[in-house]
Amino acid sequence: MIVIRKELCPQNHPCPTLPLCLVGAISQQGFNAPTVDNEKCICCCKCVNNHV
Ligand code: SF4
Repeated sequence: MIVIRKELCPQNHPCPTLPLCLVGAISQQGFNAPTVDNEKCICCCKCVNNHV
């Protein structure tokens, strides 16, 4: 399960990990910290391994 650590997210820009998720599991409201839909997530770790 992917856990977003909000304290590490500047929450001032569009999250660059959204386009990395091939199953569309990551979403973001405004510039808030993103959220992961664990029903959709296949735990490929692309978002975790891409430190953008
Ligand atoms: S682990 Fe993979 S499927 Fe899950 S949110 Fe990250 S990129 Fe998407």
